[in-house]
Amino acid sequence: MCRVISVANQKGGVGKTTTCVNLGIGLVRAGKKVLLVEADAQGSMAVSLGIAEPDELEVTLVNIMEKVINDDDVELGEGIIHHEEGIDFIPANIELAGLETSLVNVMSRETILRQYLDCVKREYDFVIIDCMPSFGMITINALVAADSVLIPVEAAYLPVKGLQQLIKTIGRVRRKLNPTLDIMGILLTKVDRRTNFARDISAQIREVYGNKVHIFENCIPMSVKAAETTAEGKSIYLHDPKGIVAGGYFSLTQEVLADEE
Ligand code: ADP
Ligand code: MG
Repeated sequence: MCRVISVANQKGGVGKTTTCVNLGIGLVRAGKKVLLVEADAQGSMAVSLGIAEPDELEVTLVNIMEKVINDDDVELGEGIIHHEEGIDFIPANIELAGLETSLVNVMSRETILRQYLDCVKREYDFVIIDCMPSFGMITINALVAADSVLIPVEAAYLPVKGLQQLIKTIGRVRRKLNPTLDIMGILLTKVDRRTNFARDISAQIREVYGNKVHIFENCIPMSVKAAETTAEGKSIYLHDPKGIVAGGYFSLTQEVLADEE
């Protein structure tokens, strides 16, 4: 059984990509087979995994989705890159923005990604989708393809409004397109442990959302080491194995695994 997790928040810079990469590689280190899918035209997941110029890639998620749209066969493993840390990934680049616009005229446009994942999913224990910071058709595709949504929230201010909107969108997708979609939880990211402010935000989020949505026990601390990994093309486990962010993502991985049992 494979679990498909979409990592979503329409706000940028909250740690979606960092979470996809380090939760994904955390699960690999725990012996799981994991595929990461970049559903973001920015290509920052590709960069985080060592591809310096994603816009120069020949094959990306766009080609795969176009094949599904045209009813062409996607070969096993096509477009999937193997990273040296044992994770598989499908990168994206700027062309995804163009595909998003052209999806408007496509039949079953919300289910293109799901149709593709239904074919490759049996090869993996987890598929993790890195969403773009918007509610466009690509993000809807990611929510339709998912079993669960993980919501990273930056513990920098109380993001009540944005979160309400996201939870509402997830509810709408559940009612209309994907009845079994669940919210796996809110993950607090970039938590500055030196300030009371971050603690206050965490407490407030628990107060406002705690009875509606699961909130992960572990949060991800703020550290410049996390920011550095993006340029390194490797996970935090290799870049700063003993650091607080590696510890945070290790604990999150354990929490996700415990949830499977
Ligand atoms: P998103 O995908 O939501 O836009 P990213 O994962 O790309 O967010 O993170 C945004 C920026 O914050 C990146 O520059 C990243 O390196 C940095 N960052 C992510 N997590 C942390 C952290 N725990 N501490 C410090 N910086 C972080
Ligand atoms: Mg991102």
